[in-house]
Parts: sequence; structure tokens; C-alpha cells
Amino acid sequence: MKGLVHVADHPLVRHKLTLLRQKERSTNSFRKLMAEVSLLLGYEATRDLPLVDEEIETPLGKMRAPVLDGKKVVLIDIWRAGTGMVEGMLEILPSARIGHIGLYRDPETMGAVEYYFKFPHEMKDRDVLVVDPMLATGNSAVAAVDRVKTAKPKSIKFVCVLAAPEGVQNFHESHPDVPIFTAAVDEGLDANGYIVPGMGDAGDRLFGTK
Ligand code: URA
Repeated sequence: MKGLVHVADHPLVRHKLTLLRQKERSTNSFRKLMAEVSLLLGYEATRDLPLVDEEIETPLGKMRAPVLDGKKVVLIDIWRAGTGMVEGMLEILPSARIGHIGLYRDPETMGAVEYYFKFPHEMKDRDVLVVDPMLATGNSAVAAVDRVKTAKPKSIKFVCVLAAPEGVQNFHESHPDVPIFTAAVDEGLDANGYIVPGMGDAGDRLFGTK
């Protein structure tokens, strides 16, 4: 497998992922767990954010202490399921800027078709996390990152909850410079492009549309 894939093996991530996979889980519970796993993946994906020392005063004296350096991180969610990851990530990145990219999967070709995009101005000096719970064929992720790269941000990472080996390979053939952060890499895809064993249709489960 080319490129970098970071699989978060923290027990909390693994436990919550198991709960997400269970088919009887309610929409309410699925949504909450998705937010919690996203927070934990966001924590992993921001591990290398740059810091700068600043002079501060504690109740007992002065010291130099680290704070985040540079411009605010940008979260870009791939519609529609990516929106389910933003809330959790904002818990730890409350000032993040947010962009959206709307892509749907053509049922015949499985190719990604763009129907919406809106990014913050001035992406040049910013670190971007592109988020979508499922890296299945990888076509949407490739198309989204193609689009993000036109804005020339400082860095890009792709964060998903589950990945298929086919999606990882496809993604890294197009974007070997973009690391993937995920909670697990599953066995593969079925004939309809769903991740197996996976967790089903993340959008439908998040929004209660099926
Ligand atoms: N999208 C989903 O929501 N689930 C899959 O398994 C694959 C793509």
C-alpha cells in the first residue's frame, strides 16, 4: 500500500467503531458515536500542528508556554455524510473554518459528480482536514482533494472512519502526498461499492433516511 495510512488503534476508537457497526443502533446513538469517533480522529490528525511559545502569566508567576501557531485549521466535509464528522471535530477545534464539497456517486459508473463547493477565502497558509466517514472506492475523496488542491493550502489530510483497501490504493495513486487517518481498514468492497463488513450507508444512518 503506497502512501501513509494512520490507523487509530486507541481502545476508545476501537470500541466506539464496534458500536457504530451494529445494525440495530438508533439514529440518535449513531450520530453521537460518529461525533465522538470524529473528535478522537481529529485529535490524531492534528498531532503535528505547529506551536509557538508565548509569554503568559499563571496565578503564581510568568512563563513561556506553547500555543497553536499560524492560521486556523479548515475542515472540509464531503456531503452528505461528511457533515456528521464536523460537530465532533469542532469540539477540539472550535475556531476551525469550514468548507463544503457536494459530491454524489453516479450509480452506474461509481464516479464522483460535483454539485456544490464553498471554501473559506485565503486557504494558502492553512492546514486542511478533508472529512468523509467512508473511503470506499475513493473516487469522491480523490475528486474532493483535487478540488482542495486548486486552493493551494499549506497541508491536506484526509480523515475517515472506515476505509477499504481499494479506496486507499485509488486515493494514494492520485494523492500520494496526502495522509489518511482512519479508525480501520476493512476487507473490501461489495458489488455495490459498499465497504464490507463496514457499517452500511453512513449518510442514511446519520440522517435517518432509510
Ligand atoms: N458509503 C457509505 O456510506 N457506506 C459504504 O459502505 C460505502 C460508501
